[in-house]
Amino acid sequence: MSNCIFCRIIEGEEEEADVIKRSEDFVAFLDVNPVTRGHTLIVPRTHVERPAEIADTEIFDFAIQTVNELQEKFDFQDYNLGINSGEKAGQTVDHMHLHVIPRREGDIENPEGGVRGVIPEERRYT
Ligand code: 5GP
Ligand code: ZN
Repeated sequence: MSNCIFCRIIEGEEEEADVIKRSEDFVAFLDVNPVTRGHTLIVPRTHVERPAEIADTEIFDFAIQTVNELQEKFDFQDYNLGINSGEKAGQTVDHMHLHVIPRREGDIENPEGGVRGVIPEERRYT
């Protein structure tokens, strides 16, 4: 799909794209507007909108391999993984993608609750 920015990156048509890793089925590249250093997107090569449309579950293996490489390159241990599936969940690019967000000491005041922060006022347990 040439009108999809992620398809163009996958097909090597975007010179600026910073590709981290490729496999037969997936590509990982740096987010152009990172929330932190090393913020990476993992996308299936096939243009699908939702996670349910991926035929297999190997994206998780690929994600973990990518994380291992990112940890060396961008100097972090902890991270959040997240998929925004659908507009109400915050998806803005309709080619399904998994965010890898490195987390470092002090990046926010109290990180408790992590991805629960998609509903900010409910993030903390207490
Ligand atoms: P969503 O909101 O759909 O979950 O996330 C879309 C992500 O794609 C955002 O983090 C945004 O910064 C990133 N993004 C949007 N356009 C581009 C682009 O042209 N190149 C790259 N590398 N990332 C993009
Ligand atoms: Zn696409």
